[in-house]
Amino acid sequence: MSAEPPSPEPPAKVGPALAERAAVWRGTRTELIMATGRQNVVFMASCGLVSMGLISAVLLHADYPTWRVLTSFVAWATLVLAQFGVLHVVSRDKTRMEAAAFMMHGLAQVYLVTFVAVTGGLRSPMLPALGTASVVPVVFFGTQPATRWLTASMLVLFSLVALLPTSWLGPALPHDHFVAAAIVSFGWTIAIVTNFITRVLAATQDAACAVDVLNEERVAAAAEHAGRLQAVGAKVAHELKNPLASIKGLVQLVSRAPEAPRTKERLEVMQAEIARMEAILAEYLSFSRPLEDLRPQALDLAEVTGSALAAVAGRMESGRISLHVDSRHTPIEGDPRRLKEALLNVLSNAVEATPAGGTIRVSVGPANGGGGANVEIQDSGRGIRPDDLVRLGTSYFTTREGGTGLGVVLATTVVAQHGGTMHYASVLGRGTTVTIRVPARPSPTAVADVLTTSTAASVEPAA
Ligand code: ADP
Ligand code: MG
Repeated sequence: MSAEPPSPEPPAKVGPALAERAAVWRGTRTELIMATGRQNVVFMASCGLVSMGLISAVLLHADYPTWRVLTSFVAWATLVLAQFGVLHVVSRDKTRMEAAAFMMHGLAQVYLVTFVAVTGGLRSPMLPALGTASVVPVVFFGTQPATRWLTASMLVLFSLVALLPTSWLGPALPHDHFVAAAIVSFGWTIAIVTNFITRVLAATQDAACAVDVLNEERVAAAAEHAGRLQAVGAKVAHELKNPLASIKGLVQLVSRAPEAPRTKERLEVMQAEIARMEAILAEYLSFSRPLEDLRPQALDLAEVTGSALAAVAGRMESGRISLHVDSRHTPIEGDPRRLKEALLNVLSNAVEATPAGGTIRVSVGPANGGGGANVEIQDSGRGIRPDDLVRLGTSYFTTREGGTGLGVVLATTVVAQHGGTMHYASVLGRGTTVTIRVPARPSPTAVADVLTTSTAASVEPAA
């Protein structure tokens, strides 16, 4: 005998998770930077006002053409107004933050190039400031395509200025004036770059923290989910243990004395126990694949309900619960196997809640108009406490010892897949009525919209 070599584990897929992380990281960082956007623009505007004032004074002192000085001032004022405008728009629509940041960088480029172009081109004391407009996008956008676009546009604008005829670009400044203007321009540039990089670094740190917190939350949620699944596994094992033990005992009895008069009765009990185990397993298995695709087909809901009833008939009989069925032919389109699972879970709950001597009433029929179907399952059981009613349909919520807390969730999921609704009306100590409506053909809805509950005194006790 040769053992099969263990098949290699498929490689873990880290791509989407990483990409997702990067997107969250970038989004958080952009949001943090934009959150201080107004402060930033105000800072740059005040720096600009002082610097533009000083540079204009130097230019005018050097007898620079007034229209050139005015043009640079107007270009600067336009930039400040446009940046405030962009900020205003983005504060109302946060989804366009990255586009807004891109525009603001682009506007700054156009302004700087205009300023350089009207103050001497390559001989302008403002030339070093173009460096700002090339470095800042790299810090802001990192490896995103925006960096490449802004770098390329800077290069194109710079080349245009370099290629323009000298006569268009304005005269060169005398040496002393040039030095004065260059010092102011350099100081202004340094102030802007430092301010900007400091903000980006702070936002980067905050974003890294935010992403870490997010990751921790996800890991915790996954661990909690895994823990719950384990708990469900343990519960299922626990639930199966009892019927298995009783079957084992009965098999021993029967094999010792096959001809004993009680053999038939014992075999029937065994059959009921096996059915119970099947139901438990079905509940568990269907929960592990609740979002499996539907396989809709034409069916008679009365027939599907009938087969679900047959599965619990043994338990009703042994619990001395009487059953009243009012069933009419109800043709709809749906997945018979999934609908049966859903009904079986609701019926099982009714059986479990109903004491010996109680009654369960089931009615199935076409809905009034619209072509859908109604199923009503009414029990005279213990009812559901208002506090519990609120938690109904939450995974793992159970009040039964050894319960899985998955039955109602499963039923709700199936009804949602069919586009139906489910209503629980319960009165403590008197009983519960579950009303399920499904449309003529499946049109999936959100699970959250399916289940409603009420604890009205108007619930008729089921006899
Ligand atoms: P489980 O049956 O494993 O407890 P379910 O999801 O099927 O899980 O049901 C969750 C809980 O809802 C039950 O434990 C019970 O408290 C309550 N419940 C559901 N249906 C009924 C009912 N017809 N009568 C009384 N309680 C019910
Ligand atoms: Mg149940």
